[in-house]
Amino acid sequence: MTAGIYAARQKLTTLLITKNFGGQMARKTVEIENYPGFEKISGWELIQKFEKHLRKNKIDIEKDAVGKIKKIGSGFAVSTSSRKQFQAKAVIITSGADPRPLEVPGEKRFIGKGVSYCTTCDGPLFSDKEVAVIGGGNSGFEAAIFLTKYAKKAYILEFAPEVKASEENQQRAKKTGKIEVITSAALKKIQGKNFVDSVVYQDRKSKKLQTLRVQGVFVEIGSQPATFFVKDLVDFNEKDEIKVDHKTCQTSTPGLFAAGDVTDIKWKQIVVAAGQGCQAALSAYEYLKKKE
Ligand SMILES: Cc1cc2nc3c(=O)[nH]c(=O)nc-3n(C[C@H](O)[C@H](O)[C@H](O)COP(=O)(O)OP(=O)(O)OC[C@H]3O[C@@H](n4cnc5c(N)ncnc54)[C@H](O)[C@@H]3O)c2cc1C
Repeated sequence: MTAGIYAARQKLTTLLITKNFGGQMARKTVEIENYPGFEKISGWELIQKFEKHLRKNKIDIEKDAVGKIKKIGSGFAVSTSSRKQFQAKAVIITSGADPRPLEVPGEKRFIGKGVSYCTTCDGPLFSDKEVAVIGGGNSGFEAAIFLTKYAKKAYILEFAPEVKASEENQQRAKKTGKIEVITSAALKKIQGKNFVDSVVYQDRKSKKLQTLRVQGVFVEIGSQPATFFVKDLVDFNEKDEIKVDHKTCQTSTPGLFAAGDVTDIKWKQIVVAAGQGCQAALSAYEYLKKKE
């Protein structure tokens, strides 16, 4: 959204293609307290402010998923999952990161039928239900705390012998009185008839299989860069992040820029992503001017 604002203000003819507004910020279940100008603001509220600001500018917006970016002549062809085709002289990739999947039987089958990757989006659907959050880091704890607003009980399943969440989040979870943490738990499958009714995990100490009756499974085991659509066009680091020149956000392909969590920038934060969005748009402007 920042790249869009800057590109439009440079009077570039700009099209922003996105699956949704908000990305990972929409998954943030507690307040954001480190975005300058806002001492405390929910992810949703901040997204709405970004979107309102973006739409004040002259910019076209397509709600769609990019399926492929190809090099054509001195520009690019961008195709989407709804089979639309666009051409551009420069492209800025800001596709961030997708939640890392569990890759256990039942996960794909029950997406939208009990399996969720977005607590703020789907949490309210689990009123008075029991749910499992997979992942005992800060995201998992924050998700579970948020879910207890609706669910009558939330289990946190952590693969390691100890959770990685901060002491503060562990205390907050304890205070709810509705969260049970299970460590050394290897999730084996998600099951049910039409909707999730339970999960099976292996207690890694006793090696015994255990069944937990839950109607919701929230996946919080980290994320992976969303880059499948440019696999053959740019260079990646070992984490599958797009390598960029940190001064210009230029990738290994001239005219193709990248910004935010999808890049090899070290700190994955909103203010950093926004800063890189600005860099990428101004660099794209400079690139296009030079070409003229
Ligand atoms: C639980 C959690 C808590 C966090 N808390 C904080 C915090 O307190 N403070 C902070 O500064 N940062 C926080 N972060 C990190 C912050 O959310 C990210 O750094 C920031 O969202 C990165 O922005 P981005 O635009 O690069 O990527 P994303 O937020 O991942 O956005 C990428 C966008 O691209 C879209 N997209 C992806 N693939 C495609 C495609 N093929 N076609 C079209 N569109 C596509 C996505 O739908 C999404 O809208 C948190 C992250 C998480 C997960």
